[in-house]
Amino acid sequence: MTIRSVIGRERPLVGLVAAAAGLLLLLSGLGVGVEQWASDLRAGFRLHPASGEIAVVEIDAKSIAAYRRWPWPRSIHAALVDRLQASGARLVAFDVDFSSASEPREDAAFAAALQRAGRTVLLPAFRQETGFEAGGRIESQPIATLAENGFLVAANVRPDADGRLRRMPYGLTIFGAPRPSLAAMVAERQGEAGASFPIDLHFDPGTLPRYAAVDVIAGRVPARALAGKRVIVGGTAVELGDRFSLPGAGLLPGVIAQAMAAETLLAGRGYDEASAAWPLLLALALIPLGLMPRSGALRAALAAAAMLLLLFLPSLTEQAHVTVAVVPALGALAGAAAAAASRRLALRYRERGLTDRETGLPNLAALLRDPGCAARLAIGAVRIDRVEERVSSGGGAEIHARILRLAERLRFAAGADRVYRAGAGTLLWSMPEPAPGEDPLAGIARLLRAAAAGDEGGELQLHFGIASGSAADVAAIAARASLAADQAAATGVATRQFTADDAAIMRRDETLLARFEPALAARRIRAVYQPKRDLHTGRIKGVEALARWDDAELGAVGPDLFIPLLERHGGIGDLTAAILGDSLRAVAGWHALSPGFSVAVNLSAVLLHDAAAMLRLRKIFLASEVPPQCLVIEVTETAAMADPDRAIAALAAWRELGVAVSIDDYGTGHSSLGYLHSLPATEVKIDGSFVRHLATDSRSAIMVRSTVSMAHELGLEVVAEGVEDAACVDLLRTMGCDVAQGWAIGRPVPPDEITGALASGASTTDAARGAG
Ligand code: C2E
Ligand code: CA
Ligand code: CA
Repeated sequence: MTIRSVIGRERPLVGLVAAAAGLLLLLSGLGVGVEQWASDLRAGFRLHPASGEIAVVEIDAKSIAAYRRWPWPRSIHAALVDRLQASGARLVAFDVDFSSASEPREDAAFAAALQRAGRTVLLPAFRQETGFEAGGRIESQPIATLAENGFLVAANVRPDADGRLRRMPYGLTIFGAPRPSLAAMVAERQGEAGASFPIDLHFDPGTLPRYAAVDVIAGRVPARALAGKRVIVGGTAVELGDRFSLPGAGLLPGVIAQAMAAETLLAGRGYDEASAAWPLLLALALIPLGLMPRSGALRAALAAAAMLLLLFLPSLTEQAHVTVAVVPALGALAGAAAAAASRRLALRYRERGLTDRETGLPNLAALLRDPGCAARLAIGAVRIDRVEERVSSGGGAEIHARILRLAERLRFAAGADRVYRAGAGTLLWSMPEPAPGEDPLAGIARLLRAAAAGDEGGELQLHFGIASGSAADVAAIAARASLAADQAAATGVATRQFTADDAAIMRRDETLLARFEPALAARRIRAVYQPKRDLHTGRIKGVEALARWDDAELGAVGPDLFIPLLERHGGIGDLTAAILGDSLRAVAGWHALSPGFSVAVNLSAVLLHDAAAMLRLRKIFLASEVPPQCLVIEVTETAAMADPDRAIAALAAWRELGVAVSIDDYGTGHSSLGYLHSLPATEVKIDGSFVRHLATDSRSAIMVRSTVSMAHELGLEVVAEGVEDAACVDLLRTMGCDVAQGWAIGRPVPPDEITGALASGASTTDAARGAG
């Protein structure tokens, strides 16, 4: 799957999530808190000083101390007004409450000064929402004599719900009359009563010119400092209270907040509020770009950059007197990032399902998903021998590295784009269907075997298969190619084309595998027992358990059919547990009739190298309380050679329990007797292929004779299997062989026949012969 197609597939989903998140925030107004947080954050970055047009005359601690009382006699305010007028102030505004009467003489003095100033001095009226009852409010304005001689402005300051001050009104209706706000009047800007504007928090309040009222009255402030200025008079002394928290600026006196609001309007910074839909649209347009890069780090960096850009977008637009809410857009981006991340995660998980965990090669599922363009195709398979064994015996890392090397060579040799791992020891690749009579495998096999021969870690046995068919049946073709490779291994040829016979085998195997578990549960898979005769005493000294499957529909199924199948596809452990259980129950009775009578159970190589399976089997034995000398386990010579250390450890565990160990099919694996010596075995069982031609084939005779003598040297007992006639029995006896097993001694029979023979004391005769 290409990254383009990933983007193609994730874009609609991510866009949808982003749009949904953005719209939700836009329409619901959720996220106001985030908006404020973002704006407060921006406010922390001071951009400009105050204009200098607005001066603050402070009623500060020093001024209060100078007159030793507060509220001041209003003649002091009168003096201040016179002095400001004389200095040529453009405009004077009071942020001081004059709503209650004081001494008439004082009120009159102030009124017179206001009159002298041409009734232009701005005096505050207030409207406070009480919040106690709906619509409850307190309204106040200066007493009549003052109000008549001044100009009333609304001086309300109303923080947001979080206690922080961000907006100022353009005007308010107080006592039924619409009043412009103090800030609007100071800036000489018009605005609708009831409307408000955001205070530009980018002003540095520290840059406002400020003078102490007492210094102004005393003439200590030069006239030119105040000439032409818009003067706001208000309290800044801490004891006057009246403080507000402005984001980014901290706690400021009300008069400073008023000055900043006025500065905002003066600088023309009363923003229009653009629709939050614009940044949202911008964000949605940016999202596809953010999804482009392949690298996760780059994508994260892009997302972070976009967020930062959006966060500070209002700082830019506010230069053009437009502010805008960015939370819906931020929400959309966050939604997109979350959706894209979770989608990638899901894809990665799916990708993981398409790769083999041990080698990183694409797996069978990946082959089935890779669409071919041709209508017909062929699939090649190579079966690597004994991979399962090597893996289970701890050679995993090494064999996986070798499989990878092999896959690489295969890509080269077969000219394949991708090589897939299907099952532990099978690699697959697809190729064009070969022309009739053409054998594309021969060359590939030669190349690969030559390369694998030189590989360190010993030669890997490779067998090749091929099958072809309609591209619609990739799964079936892959299975056929694998089976052809398995059949090549079973028949000892290098390559094999899938044939009609193979198709029949495949169907049969599928049926067998499907029916195995039910058959085992229904106890249609049982052991039969083949007697072994002690050639020194003439007694039947034990039996070998051999599995028989009598299927309700298929009839008798031989172990040569189902054992290799179960070894490859699992199930051999369950089968062996069942056979061992049956055998132990049976031998308990036989031991009572004939002390020391033993039963031999076959253990597959895959089990020998599976520590958990071995433990399970040993537990079954220990639970049976059968004496250890009544049990023999048989492992084939090749299984014992596959991974000597592991095999020795597994066999030793049985030996420690006192159980005898027989090396089965001896002679087929070409192991040296020296190696045999290192195994904790008690018995060698010479393969039937040597025994059967003992009388006629001198090489077989030499092999049996030398095995007997060397095994005896090593203290091992020698069993000959596949003994088919009486002459052979006699020959074996003269060669010094200890035990004989085969049709000449007896066929495999159900357990009660063995019991019957033992009970009738026939064990010393040949009664068992010919049975089954
Ligand atoms: P094996 O262990 O070598 O068993 C001996 C096979 O030779 C048996 O075939 C037996 O019936 C056959 N046989 C016995 N005497 C003669 C004879 O005189 N002449 C000839 N031509 N054959 C004789 P069977 O029962 O078909 O088993 C075939 C193989 O299946 C066994 O070979 C063994 O490898 C495997 N097997 C059978 N049962 C089990 C089991 O319970 N577990 C495992 N792991 N393998 C089993
Ligand atoms: Ca055997
Ligand atoms: Ca055998």
